[in-house]
Amino acid sequence: MLRKSRYLEFVPPDIGVGDIGGLGNLKEWLIQRSAAFSDKARAYGLPEPKGLFLLGVQGCGKSLSAKAVAALWQVPLLRLDVAALFEGRAEEGLRDTIRIAESLAPVVLWIDEIEKAFLGEASGSRVFGSFLTWMQEKKAAVFVVATANEVRSLPPELLRKGRFDEIFFVDLPNVHERLEILEIHLRHRSRDPEHFDLLAIAEETERHSGAELEQIIVAAMFLSFAAGRDLQ
Ligand code: ATP
Repeated sequence: MLRKSRYLEFVPPDIGVGDIGGLGNLKEWLIQRSAAFSDKARAYGLPEPKGLFLLGVQGCGKSLSAKAVAALWQVPLLRLDVAALFEGRAEEGLRDTIRIAESLAPVVLWIDEIEKAFLGEASGSRVFGSFLTWMQEKKAAVFVVATANEVRSLPPELLRKGRFDEIFFVDLPNVHERLEILEIHLRHRSRDPEHFDLLAIAEETERHSGAELEQIIVAAMFLSFAAGRDLQ
């Protein structure tokens, strides 16, 4: 079914909550809802979860979080290619996308940089209207994870309660979170964080994003490799 769609791609579930440093509130919120798509949750009287809006600074873990939702809840993750959707007949494209996503439910539908999707285009406002109505009324277990970098250009009706279950602001990491992020990326590269003075690095990297912290480690590894020694 996915192969028939020009706008949807399957994203493999290779990121878990353990791969995200910081973002404690968001991780706790997700863990609390781990069984939210189960029959037990329906029998309890809970509605299907609608979606999550992640707003914030670039390179701080919004995409990672979208992937972690799907892995944690053990449902497939579909990424919507919004640029492609708007290159073609957007209204029709959105209708097809919704139909496919609903037929594969329960799924997570990830809409990256949603602010670029529905604004500025001539057809944008009409398609945007259809999207909002669907978000408001949908009964199928399609959990939408929308991410956005630019707050100011977002129309307020998108963020009104009832469309998304929660809105999180993903900020630059504080010193404790920077420490966690550095540890995670060292472990990913088979280095024991205990062997490094990470606190010193975390303290010196105020206002660095997660992506920049990862690059510090990558750059240091290139330096060490060129010098013919292990990472210091
Ligand atoms: P963008 O808006 O640029 O897409 P983003 O917030 O979606 O940014 P990610 O794609 O999640 O950012 O982060 C980029 C990379 O930086 C990640 O693949 C990861 O390696 C690293 N990274 C960013 N934030 C974190 C974090 N909180 N914990 C661990 N790694 C992180």
